[in-house]
Amino acid sequence: MSHFSIICRKCGKELPNTYCAFCEHCANSLLITSYRDPFRDDCGKGIWKFNWLPVHTPAFDQPGTVVYRSQWLARHLDMTDLYIAFNGYWPERGAFLEACTFKEFEAAIVLQNAVENGVEGLIVASAGNTARAFAHLSIVAGFPVIIVVPRMCLMEMWYLESSSMVPTLAVGDGDYSDSIDVARRIAAVSGFPFEGGVKNIAKRDGLGSTILEAVSVMGRLPDHYVQAVGSGTGGIGVWEMSERFLRDGRFGTALPKLHLAQNLPFAPMVKAWEKRSRELFEEDLRPELIGQISTRVLSTRYPAYSVQGGVFDAMQAAGGSMYGVTNREVFESMELFSNLEGVDIVPAAGVAVAALKQALEKKTIQKGDSVLLNITGGGEVMLGREKKTYNVEPAFVSKKITDKEIEDLICTALKKSS
Ligand SMILES: *Cc1c(COP(=O)(O)O)cnc(C)c1O
Repeated sequence: MSHFSIICRKCGKELPNTYCAFCEHCANSLLITSYRDPFRDDCGKGIWKFNWLPVHTPAFDQPGTVVYRSQWLARHLDMTDLYIAFNGYWPERGAFLEACTFKEFEAAIVLQNAVENGVEGLIVASAGNTARAFAHLSIVAGFPVIIVVPRMCLMEMWYLESSSMVPTLAVGDGDYSDSIDVARRIAAVSGFPFEGGVKNIAKRDGLGSTILEAVSVMGRLPDHYVQAVGSGTGGIGVWEMSERFLRDGRFGTALPKLHLAQNLPFAPMVKAWEKRSRELFEEDLRPELIGQISTRVLSTRYPAYSVQGGVFDAMQAAGGSMYGVTNREVFESMELFSNLEGVDIVPAAGVAVAALKQALEKKTIQKGDSVLLNITGGGEVMLGREKKTYNVEPAFVSKKITDKEIEDLICTALKKSS
């Protein structure tokens, strides 16, 4: 018997454990995993020590989040109970994510879950951190993944040396939505499904593993959770895990308040939440706003905000606030963190640090409250000193590529990588 089942949040219907299931009569609602047993953290090594993950027999190693009590940043902010969830590469602290962000958890859990459901390969349409995480895990797990990225994101992308043979296609004459379109057609031709985005329960539970480690270390749920959001998937995952902890009953009686942040001037969820609107506003989604932010990983125009069980519902259920952070605040916060805690962090993590500062100023977080600050990515500089990293060298394709051309391409790509 499986230790979990998948249920529809809206109608309560239980679905069989299939890869990326959808509830046919509640199309606009997220499915969630329901775990049979109380929380455990002694089931294996690394991330596999937790029982609240939708996998049975993990076949590769995956290090987890490192949660520690902050001394220096806490002192600087005059806080007494600040915990840092570090997701990145920082061997001295026991942090070994070589792709350097929490996207590694989503990739690991999604891959393992896919394998267990008989899926033979995955198509990932993404830029930056998700692409790197899936490329890394494809090698670690020995599982075929084809990655499709828009050309304009290549400049900011790097791979680990070992990932260089993972088939990566760049759509030369299109933007992000064109590359999603190409990826969709590759999926149809190859028979490999799409990685699934926010609708994939494995993705949300993987990102939610950060709070599993936090509760394991802290012994209870924090009062507040702080994170920079792009698609919102990570925040939703943490909210869902927190609900499970309340039902478990041993780790607290209130959901952690959510403090979620975006990079101004592109902050569609912040703007909508300020007006308590379930719908995002068109004017906040203008592409020219994206050109002005320093955190491309937070720039999706299709976040999981309005969907049933998405960010809007999470904010309503848990309470908390959303924050808009300027580029200047981002860079100041990155520097502050690195000076105080001793490790470099990515710009998106700087957004979270800046949001924490704002929250203390606005008193939406009190200095004595227990706080979990999610540093979603860091240690790239640290890793660069120890390991070789490469600019991604993709095969360029056109958005007008034909199905026959796709077929040939897949054939050569998979032959090369195996
Ligand atoms: C993807 C990403 C985020 C945002 O996470 P979402 O789940 O998309 O909201 C934040 N920080 C980093 C470093 C990321 O890569």
